[in-house]
Amino acid sequence: MSDAKKYIEEVYQEVSERDSYQPEFLQAVREFFDSIEPVLVLHPELVQQNILGRLVEPERIIQFRVPWVNDQGEVEVNRAFRVQFNSAIGPYKGGMRFHPTVNQSIVKFLGFEQIFKNSLTGLPIGGGKGGSDFNPRGKSDGEVMRFCQSLMTELQKYIGPDMDVPAGDIGVGAREIGYLYGQYKKLNGSHNGVLTGKPLLYGGSIGRTEATGFGLVYFTKAMLKDAGKTFKHQKVIVSGSGNVAIYAMEKVKEYEGTVIACSDSDGYIIDEAGIDIELVKDIKEKRRGRISEYVAQRPEAKYFEGNVWNHKINYQIALPCATQNEIFGEAADTIIANGVYALAEGANMPTDLESTKKLQKAGVLFGPAKAANAGGVAVSALEMSQNSQRLSWEFEEVDSQLKTIMKTIYRQISETAKEYGVEGDFAAGANIAGFTKVAFAMLSQGVV
Ligand code: NDP
Repeated sequence: MSDAKKYIEEVYQEVSERDSYQPEFLQAVREFFDSIEPVLVLHPELVQQNILGRLVEPERIIQFRVPWVNDQGEVEVNRAFRVQFNSAIGPYKGGMRFHPTVNQSIVKFLGFEQIFKNSLTGLPIGGGKGGSDFNPRGKSDGEVMRFCQSLMTELQKYIGPDMDVPAGDIGVGAREIGYLYGQYKKLNGSHNGVLTGKPLLYGGSIGRTEATGFGLVYFTKAMLKDAGKTFKHQKVIVSGSGNVAIYAMEKVKEYEGTVIACSDSDGYIIDEAGIDIELVKDIKEKRRGRISEYVAQRPEAKYFEGNVWNHKINYQIALPCATQNEIFGEAADTIIANGVYALAEGANMPTDLESTKKLQKAGVLFGPAKAANAGGVAVSALEMSQNSQRLSWEFEEVDSQLKTIMKTIYRQISETAKEYGVEGDFAAGANIAGFTKVAFAMLSQGVV
C-alpha cells in the first residue's frame, strides 16, 4: 500500500468513527477518497499538510430551531441547518433543501459534493449547503411563508453576498426563495442578491430555472458525442418530475430524443409516445399534484407504483433527477439489461457506490453528479455577477455561457481521467479535477 493510500485510509477511519451516524456523508467521502490517490502520490505536500483531514471537517455548521404557526393556530417546530463546508476558492455556495429526510448527514454529503462541483465550474465559489426537515407537501402558501420567514430570521445572521449565498434544491423553488429573500431584505434593509434562483422581477437570472436540467443535457450531449452518439431517436428515462427533471426532459425533446418515463416519490408513468412535458408542468408546477394524475389526461400512458429504475423496458439513456440513492440493489442490473449505454446524474448521488461500479464495469458511460448537474450552480454564479453589476443578461447570453461551461467541464474531467491513467472513468476525473484546485488553494492559504 502506498503512503498516500495509507494516509487516505487513516483519514477515512477517523471520519467514519467521528461521524459514524452519518451514512450519506460517509458514502460521499468514500466515493471521493477512492479516486484521489494518484494526486496524493504526485504531491506528498498535500499529505504532509493534512489536506484531507481538513477537507472532511466543515469550516462551520449552524443548526437552529425554526418555530412557526400553522393554519390551525398551532405552533410547530422544525430543525434547520447550514453547512459552510469550504471557502478556499470563494464564498460558500449551495442550495437549501426542504424535505422530511433532511438531517446533518444529508446536508453534509450535499455540502461536501458541492465543494468539488463548484470547483469544476471554474467559477470562484466555495461549497456549502443547508436545509430543513420541513415538508412543504400539503402546506398552504401562508404556512410556507411563515416557515420561510422564521427560518430566515435566524439564517440571515450567517449569510451575505461575499460570505454565503444559498439557493434552491428539493422543496425550495421560486415561491420559497421569494419568501426567504423578502424576509432577508426586511431584516437587513439591503437588496444585495444574497440568494440565487430569485424571480426575474428582482434580480433573478433568466435561465436559472432551466439551468440544471439544460446543463445536464448539454453535458450528456458532449459525453455522447465523444462516443460517436447523439440523443436523436434515443429513448430516455428521467426520474423525478421536479425542477431538474422537467427541464432535462424539455432539452432532450429539443435534441430529438424521446422521454418515455418520469416519476415522483410515489410512482412513475410510462408514456411510450413521449412524455407530454406541458402536462407534467401543469400537474407538478401549477397544481402541485401527483404524477399519477397524468394518466387521467393521457389514457395511453400507464402509472405504476414503485421505483422507475426497476421497470423492465428497452431504452438507451438514463437521467436520474430525483434524489440520493434512488439507484440501488437490483436497479443497476435492470438498467443494464434494458440496454442503457449512458447514464448521467441530474440529482446528487442518485447512484449508490455498488451500482456505480456495476454500471461502469458494464461499460455504461457514466456522468457523475458533480460534473453533470453543475449547470444550476454555474448559472447561480452568473446571477451573482449580474447582481453585482446591476445588469440583466438576455437568455441567449446566459444559455450560451451555460453550454460553454458544461462542455468545458466534460472536457476537463475526461482529460483529467486520461492524464491520471483512468481513461473513461469520468467519476474519477471529476473528483481529481475538482479536488486539485481546492487542495492547492488550501495549501497556499496556510493552516486556517
Ligand atoms: P424538486 O423538489 O423540484 O423535485 C424533486 C423531484 O424528485 C420531485 O418530483 C420528487 O417527487 C422527486 N423525488 C423526491 N424524492 C424521491 C424519491 N425518494 N423517489 C422518487 N422521486 C423522488 O427538486 P429538484 O428537481 O430541484 O432536485 C432534484 C435533485 O437534483 C436533487 O438531488 C437535488 O439535490 C439535485 N440538484 C438540484 C439542483 C437545482 O438547481 N434545483 C442543482 C443541482 C442538483 P415528490 O413530488 O413526490 O416529492
